[in-house]
Amino acid sequence: MSTALDVDVYTSPLQKLPEAVGGWFSPTTSTLLTGPTEAVLVDTQYLESDVAEVARRIEASGRTLTTIFITHAHADHYFGLEALLARFPQARAVALPSVVAEIKSTNEAQRKQWRAWFAGKALDNTAVPEPLDGDTILLDGEELKVIEVGQADVAPATILWVPSLRAVVAGDAIYNGVNPFLAASGPAEWPKWIESVEKIAALEPEIVIAGHKKPDAADDDLTTTVHYTRDYLRAFIEELDASSDSRDLVARMQARYPDNLNPSALVLSAVTAWKRKKAGHA
Ligand SMILES: [Zn+2]
Repeated sequence: MSTALDVDVYTSPLQKLPEAVGGWFSPTTSTLLTGPTEAVLVDTQYLESDVAEVARRIEASGRTLTTIFITHAHADHYFGLEALLARFPQARAVALPSVVAEIKSTNEAQRKQWRAWFAGKALDNTAVPEPLDGDTILLDGEELKVIEVGQADVAPATILWVPSLRAVVAGDAIYNGVNPFLAASGPAEWPKWIESVEKIAALEPEIVIAGHKKPDAADDDLTTTVHYTRDYLRAFIEELDASSDSRDLVARMQARYPDNLNPSALVLSAVTAWKRKKAGHA
């Protein structure tokens, strides 16, 4: 099937966090969808250098940026918003009303945390997207569909479905080759996250762009995106149950996924899961 739309995915490099915090921050994607004359950006990055690269790509596309869509209320996906809106004043930033409400209620805390994590390199952001009326974003007349999938690494989580490309821009419902972030959710949420992954699978996509991925990973292989995320979540639930402590859980997951990028994300997920388990679920 021929289509007039094109897709350009920018994946930021792995970022080292300060010694006091420890670990690394996984590569994060921004997706530029282009039609003959217009462009829609999904998620903005947060480091000055990465936001500048996204802006460069928008300009290089030669298209008019009409819309910036934010998938969910995490700083790594929307802290570039203020800078991009200043540079592309004709663009409108949108998210589903549930995501807008979450951004409003957590922006202050995330600004504080981001200052501590990326002092000097991350952009500060007080811009908030407008609530999208309905579920449709137009790109040169083509309808792109916003779908609220519910739970991902956080809730609410939304994705953008591009029917003519059979493409899902998945935010953090899907990971690709990097350890998913399970520290902001727990055993009650993980089955719901798996349901979100199944909702994406049910669309029968050909392209799935993960919110966090290995920079060179392909977006058109469901085994490394949809199936990988579903199986990883199931494995984590199983191994949490079978493990004797967080170290053991990390070792078990690394044995299953030896090539995953960013072990520190797994360590954080494992330590948090074991803290919760000791506190009440054991
Ligand atoms: Zn993220």
